[in-house]
This record gives sequence, structure tokens and C-alpha cells, in this order.
Amino acid sequence: MNSLVDELEAARDLEVDALADAIESIGFECTHCGACCRGTEADEHTATVFPDEIRTLGPSQGAENDAEYDWRDIARPMPYGLREGSDGLEGETFEWALQTDGCGDCTFYDPTADGGGCTVHENRPLICRTYPFSVALEGTSQPMGEAVDEAGIVRAHECEGLGRDIDRKEAETLAATLKRRAIRELEEAIAVLERYQSVDADGVVVHDSEGAKRPDGTPLERPQ
Ligand code: SF4
Repeated sequence: MNSLVDELEAARDLEVDALADAIESIGFECTHCGACCRGTEADEHTATVFPDEIRTLGPSQGAENDAEYDWRDIARPMPYGLREGSDGLEGETFEWALQTDGCGDCTFYDPTADGGGCTVHENRPLICRTYPFSVALEGTSQPMGEAVDEAGIVRAHECEGLGRDIDRKEAETLAATLKRRAIRELEEAIAVLERYQSVDADGVVVHDSEGAKRPDGTPLERPQ
């Protein structure tokens, strides 16, 4: 826990200008190829989405009232640590991943949609806003696969848009969001650890910064 608190301090101290310098030196322009939004049936798209981001994505999907909003349309339990039981998946896991469709793509990906295929572009999670970059701090999320480039504390992950010119203003915007994401990820990780209590329950239990939940986002009812 102490190391996460130290990393959070380091994230809060990150200088946006220095991050922007690093992003500029690596270079990036989104080509709207959709590669970061797609998966396969065998290897589903897996990107972390936080509880508040899930709620933000809910109403944007056209639900006219809260009753129509279904958490499971937006997020699925992070699959790591779950196992196949006699009645489907079971076990405890941490955090949520963006929901996927039958092909393993992000459920919000539509290659025919304007602006590169993301149908929730305005509300997309922090991890999508900052792909293909991450910062080299413990406790922050790192996209799958090895980093292919780095500059200072900034890492770049596989993406065909890397190496392209980026203007300073865009680099600064991306840098500020990258810093926000690092802080948010560490705050989330600390809150998860503070709240975590192992549970013995049937089915799947997801531990996030708000406590233990069922896959539909409702709080787990613990035995009295
Ligand atoms: S939310 Fe949008 S940007 Fe993020 S993975 Fe899904 S389609 Fe791609």
C-alpha cells in the first residue's frame, strides 16, 4: 500500500510539459484503424473501465431513464482470476473491463460510425483517451504487450499511429489526460485495497473502489 501511496504522489507531481515533450518526441496521430478497440473471440478486447466511467457511459447509450440502464451492457468483470464452474464463471476479481460483443470487439466499436468507430467518443474512458501511451509508475495500467517505445517516464504501446507528427497543443492535451489517468488509476487501486475483504460467495464477485459487487453492478449482499 505504501508504495502505491508513493506512486500516487509521483503521479500528482508529474509535469504536463515534460509528458508533452515525451509524447512529441515519440510522435502520434490516430489513424482511426480501430485496432485498439478490437479483439477476437479467443482473445477478447480487455480495457479497464472504472465505476464512475461505467455510469457515465450508461445514459449516453440512449436510455431514457435509469431503469433502462444495464451495467452489463457496458462492463464485464475483469476476467483475470475467474474460473469456469458448473454454472458458468465463478470467483473473485478486481475491476471491470469494457463489455465486448460476440466477436470479442469492444461493445462500443462500430467500424461504420463517424470519427473512427467509437460510438461513445465523447464519453470514452481515460484509457481509451490516452492509448497508446502509459506512464511507468507501479500500480497504473499498462496496455497488453510490451512497450515499443519510451521517452522519460512515458511508454508507447503497439499502434500504427506512433511516430507521426503531433502538434504541441494536442500533445499537451494528451499529456494532461495521461496525468489525470495515472492519478485516477492509483487512487482507484488504493481504494480497492482499502475496501477489499475476501468473500465466500457463489458466482462472480468484483472488487472495485466502491466495494464488492455482482456482475450487474449491484453491491454484494454479505451474510449478517
Ligand atoms: S470505448 Fe470507444 S475508444 Fe474505447 S475501446 Fe471502445 S470503441 Fe474503442
